[in-house]
Amino acid sequence: MIKKTISILGSTGSIGVQSLDVAKQAGFSVAALTANSDVKTMEAQIRAFRPQKAALADEAAAKDLRARVADTSTVVLSGKEGVEACAAETDADTVIDAIVGLAGLRPALAAVNAGKDLALANKEALVAGGSLVLKAVEEHGVRLLPVDSEHSAIFQCLQASPPNRALKKLILTASGGPFFGKTRKELKNVTAADALRHPTWEMGAKITIDSASMFNKGLELIEAHFLFGMPAEKIDVVVHRESIIHSLIEFDDNSVLAQLGVSDMRIPIQYALTFPERYPSPVRELDLAQVATLHFYRPDEETFDCLGICREAIGKGGLYPAAVNSANEEVNLLFRQGKIRFTEMGTLIRTAFAVCEDKNDYTLQDVFATDAAVRRAVHAAM
Ligand code: NDP
Ligand code: MG
Repeated sequence: MIKKTISILGSTGSIGVQSLDVAKQAGFSVAALTANSDVKTMEAQIRAFRPQKAALADEAAAKDLRARVADTSTVVLSGKEGVEACAAETDADTVIDAIVGLAGLRPALAAVNAGKDLALANKEALVAGGSLVLKAVEEHGVRLLPVDSEHSAIFQCLQASPPNRALKKLILTASGGPFFGKTRKELKNVTAADALRHPTWEMGAKITIDSASMFNKGLELIEAHFLFGMPAEKIDVVVHRESIIHSLIEFDDNSVLAQLGVSDMRIPIQYALTFPERYPSPVRELDLAQVATLHFYRPDEETFDCLGICREAIGKGGLYPAAVNSANEEVNLLFRQGKIRFTEMGTLIRTAFAVCEDKNDYTLQDVFATDAAVRRAVHAAM
């Protein structure tokens, strides 16, 4: 196994915990860990992995943590600056960004600007700051490695790309979520608790709701657009209920390559860390005969209108992907709080288009100004 030193941003979450499991099995050193406010989990992780630094974005939680781990050598930082310092100021060679939402963008840039390879689970960072992240990656000559299972699948398939690339399209698979096959009428009264029952993946609350609305697949369209330089019309989505095929690519000769495996995020996490090599994994083998049948369907883009919204945002470019992402973050939270209906989500997210400034070259400040404007617009439209 190769030797690595990694930092994990969002270590207390679903991807963070699985990343630590991968690190433990592989014997990687952990330089820094960050979270928002989960003191208990962070304390246990600090005791188990002994990082140089740890940070909690929440100041009060960080103070509590500092007192709890005073007997260890880990330096506890706080606030957004503390999280960014953990991303940048350690001897880690790779930073896993597993923060949820736009909060992960600045730390992602901090890691890249410090010359670290970025293993990116935090799709919102790339969606909202696509050109900023790509520019920083190029400027610093670091690697941007996808952790999202679909993008890892495409990345893995692309390793078989011919010298002339000859790439015709990308095909993202989608589980369809808990509301697959339902009509808008049937979805009118569904609750956040219904949406949180995902059929194939165990994930954090925000992405689970995004999977139910299929905004997650919309985010992944935008993520694929930035990662692989493909226009929206060359990225298809197919619903695949079993989540065994994680995505596919089609070449000009109509040959299609797919990546398969059991639905366990530790495979793409480990690949992002060991690329281009592969090593044994704790994840179980895929037993195709036991799976027996794989199902595929076209997505119902009328019921799940979020997919179309994201395609439109790619087409408009500039700050539009950031705008729809921020609108969705707000709408996702409002739905979890029981303040809006599931079927209102798309219409509310669309308010982003009206307030988004139409400019191609944008700065980080523009992204955050858009974020604030869009969140206000969503509330005004409720
Ligand atoms: P979780 O909600 O489980 O975890 C989120 C992590 O981010 C936690 O450690 C949380 O800390 C931390 N965090 C939240 N807000 C902030 C903030 N403002 N500043 C700093 N840290 C913060 O999410 P997931 O692990 O499910 O998802 C993480 C990212 O990975 C998302 O972008 C998601 O879309 C993506 N992803 C997830 C997959 C999955 O299977 N879960 C699959 C593919 C992509 P605390 O615990 O203290 O709140
Ligand atoms: Mg995914």
